[in-house]
Amino acid sequence: MARSSKQTEPPGTAARQWSPRVSAALLERLAARAAAPAATKTIVIEAPFSGEVLGHVPQGAPADVVAACAQAREAQQEWAQRSFAARAAVMLRFHDLVIDNSAEILDIIQLESGKARRHAFEEVLDVAIQARYYAHTAAAFLEPRRRQGALPVLTKAWEHHHPRGVIGIIAPWNYPLTLAVGDAVPALMAGNGVVVKPDALTPFSALWAAGLLEEAGLPRGLLQVVTGRGAELGEPLVDAADYLMFTGSTATGRKVAALAAERLKDSSMELGGKNALLVLPDANLRRAVPGAVRGITSNGGQLCISIERVYVHAAVYDVFAARLAVSLRAVRLGASLTFLEDMGSLIGADQLAKVAGHVADAVGKGAEVLAGGNARPDLGAYFFEPTLLSGVSAEMDLCRAETFGPVAAIYRCASVDEMVARANDSSYGLNASIWTRDTRFGRELATRIQTGTVNINEAYSATWASASPMGGFKESGLGRRHGAQGIVKFTEAQTVAVERLLAIDTPPFLNHQQYATLMSAAMKLLKRVPIVK
Ligand code: NAD
Repeated sequence: MARSSKQTEPPGTAARQWSPRVSAALLERLAARAAAPAATKTIVIEAPFSGEVLGHVPQGAPADVVAACAQAREAQQEWAQRSFAARAAVMLRFHDLVIDNSAEILDIIQLESGKARRHAFEEVLDVAIQARYYAHTAAAFLEPRRRQGALPVLTKAWEHHHPRGVIGIIAPWNYPLTLAVGDAVPALMAGNGVVVKPDALTPFSALWAAGLLEEAGLPRGLLQVVTGRGAELGEPLVDAADYLMFTGSTATGRKVAALAAERLKDSSMELGGKNALLVLPDANLRRAVPGAVRGITSNGGQLCISIERVYVHAAVYDVFAARLAVSLRAVRLGASLTFLEDMGSLIGADQLAKVAGHVADAVGKGAEVLAGGNARPDLGAYFFEPTLLSGVSAEMDLCRAETFGPVAAIYRCASVDEMVARANDSSYGLNASIWTRDTRFGRELATRIQTGTVNINEAYSATWASASPMGGFKESGLGRRHGAQGIVKFTEAQTVAVERLLAIDTPPFLNHQQYATLMSAAMKLLKRVPIVK
């Protein structure tokens, strides 16, 4: 999504000190890291807190993507020969560097995305968690392992995982560090080169991380960041990379998946959501209310797994809705590079227009505002209050479309079955949250929800920060990140088998009929022999 129309201007940022740690000169050095020598224009990067020009980056051209992929491919040859332990050492140094330099990257993330510092910190934590996790587990997932052959004794087989080559990563603006780098970590640990195309609104975090990875020991050129516009750079990246990791909207994901499919390239799509939170009659409301607030307001609701639909059992609806409204009104909004605020700004003018438009459409068609409902230009250019609406119905945009803002609709439900049915009544299937004191029942109920992740007594992060797969059912995506699936997908699997003693064919001392009879009898016996996994 474009932030504004004033996108291509010559450089000219005043030499401003944005924070004690981030100066215009630092941002210029980061921009110089962009793998975009063919750029003839620059992109203006705005600071959402104030609407001022933060800096500029080159507007990369398709030729830059081709060159970046070629350089990453060259560097990858040597990287792929390194042991898992050697690659892990780089990732663990990167882990420490990210934590040690977190104050600087927190400033950068906040300045380019407008989010609150506590939400920027989630990105720092996430990248460190991914680096540690895959540094310690990549070998176990990917080292060659013995597999049972078609017939025991006769065949010895091994499963190998080869790097695919160059992984293209297309990332959105909402988590500019996590979503540009979090998937690069397993891609690199699997022995690949990586070309990242960050969103045109938020390129500095990815450029910063690329510098830190090199400082940690990543070979020069192995990870490239090409800044520019997705519509121009997407297709060349699909052409030149060996696998596409896309995170963004369902609409763009469809286009990228189609481009990849035409070229018979594999891809992974992490797309949109319209996530439901279910409050059961036995929920602990002292935890459920702040949990819902966090789910609705994290990153100003600009989070694929944030909560936009709240289904509450009638037994607790009145008290829950009242308390949630009070708590949403108490959320502290503000634009500072400190941990004082609960929620920051939206990313820009287009996102503000979309969020305000969904609220106005719903109110115009009869929805009732229980909390918030307004833009807050007094705080900064693109602030919008945490908002809760009741009486939302199917003809309102807010009902089914992803708002991607701090806005939720709350619904009264007569039964748990109704809550599940309504939660599942969506073209999306990304995340859900269930609040109940009976966690055993909650876990059973979770398996009836058609989403890739279900958090019990948590809004979104219990399932994110884990070694288990994360991704979407239905129109929320294809493939998964995290866990084994989050690294195996960046490899080509190969089976190597050695045939011993006899071929799997009629031996010379039998005719085909005798062989078939013998093998049929052998199959009955083999059925009793356990398969070695
Ligand atoms: P978007 O689809 O507009 O942009 C995402 C990326 O795609 C950007 O880098 C953009 O430059 C690029 N792009 C745009 N057009 C392209 C094209 N034709 N070819 C190739 N690339 C192109 O999404 P957005 O508005 O930036 O991000 C918000 C969306 O992302 C929301 O729908 C949100 O739910 C989703 N999201 C999903 C996850 C997840 O893990 N499932 C995580 C974060 C965000």
